[in-house]
Amino acid sequence: MPIQAPVPRPAGSKKSGLSRRAIRMGDAVLMPNYARLPLVLEKGRGAILVDIEGKTYLDFTAGIAVNIFGHADRGLTQVVSRQAKRFMHVSNLYYHIPQIALAQALVRRAFPSRVFFCNSGAEANEAAIKLARRYAKQIHGKACFEIISTYGSFHGRTMAALAATGQEKYHAGFEPMLPGFRHVPYDDPEALSQAMTPSVAAVLVEPIQGEGGVRIPDPQYLISLRKICDRHGALLILDEIQTGMGRTGKLFAYAHSEIVPDILTLAKGLGGGMPMGAMLARPDVAACFSAGSHASTFGGNPVACAAAIEVIRRLTPAFLSRVDGLGAVLLEGLADLQKETSDVTEVRGVGLMAALDLSPEAPTALEIIDLAQKQGLLLNRTSERTLRILPPLTITRAQIKQGLSILSSVLTSR
Ligand SMILES: *Cc1c(COP(=O)(O)O)cnc(C)c1O
Repeated sequence: MPIQAPVPRPAGSKKSGLSRRAIRMGDAVLMPNYARLPLVLEKGRGAILVDIEGKTYLDFTAGIAVNIFGHADRGLTQVVSRQAKRFMHVSNLYYHIPQIALAQALVRRAFPSRVFFCNSGAEANEAAIKLARRYAKQIHGKACFEIISTYGSFHGRTMAALAATGQEKYHAGFEPMLPGFRHVPYDDPEALSQAMTPSVAAVLVEPIQGEGGVRIPDPQYLISLRKICDRHGALLILDEIQTGMGRTGKLFAYAHSEIVPDILTLAKGLGGGMPMGAMLARPDVAACFSAGSHASTFGGNPVACAAAIEVIRRLTPAFLSRVDGLGAVLLEGLADLQKETSDVTEVRGVGLMAALDLSPEAPTALEIIDLAQKQGLLLNRTSERTLRILPPLTITRAQIKQGLSILSSVLTSR
């Protein structure tokens, strides 16, 4: 069944109580750890989502950079169902072809490395932190275990990934944090240089801070980090969980800087909607893991691998240059919006990863999200005053323009 573009539905139509009832039932049984919006989704196609009342929305969130081919993508559904009919899971006690083929594809497109598969971003970073500690102890001795990351970063919610995350609001109530983590200002190579000591095992950084508000560093930043790590014999771990898989117009954001990390973590877009994470490491670093040193029961699940193979297969140079072009359309539209209204103080973006800051006089990000949703556009925020835009990479130019026009009407019609 084809799914239409957003059409506002008249209030009081037959189905309008459905969502309220579902939300009430959900709140009675779900943990209160998410600030969920009052929206109950049922299905989608491409960049369009449909709720259980039949209302349609243009999706500028893509499951937070997960659904890179949008919703109900034909190719992805086909490979997932084909693999599910063969088997859904086999243990890592054995080999299976989808996992081998996916690792081959990743190594070929990233850098000479070995791959560990898991199911989420946090797990990929946990694996990276464990591997970095193991490597540093073998190479530099047992006093070398520190991980330096940056303020404003986000690396996940499990205890080590949380300790690496440089935002106190995520630590609150969960102290004591795991020892061995320090933070330095983002986009400040000098600060990192001064923080380096012989106890530093690795530096863990996002090429663009995602949850931190789409913070884009100086183009030289990663190059400087690479040099500092090399000078001190520390590993450079890049967290591309959000920036990877074509989001910025390159398969991996580090390619904009022409450097290569020692360890790379991926998740979000990797499975195109299937839960899937991966850690790639230089072969000599990877060799510090031995049988039994790390594992994940579901890691490299055949169905998730089948999806990720399809994702990588379709992230061709032509596809990525289309993302680049669409990113320019989005950023231009946001810049026009900034000219239209003093509510917008700054716009930022690379590829289809963008953000806009709201002035103190403007409505809050949450108020704008609510107003946009009523007009059929789904947006996301990283803070009270920052909206984030992460559409599916397959979104059309017309859909980007449509979303921008809704955003513009929300911001200017008050
Ligand atoms: C989302 C995200 C994570 C955590 O991923 P989960 O799958 O939620 O554990 C880690 N790092 C970055 C940069 C992210 O954007």
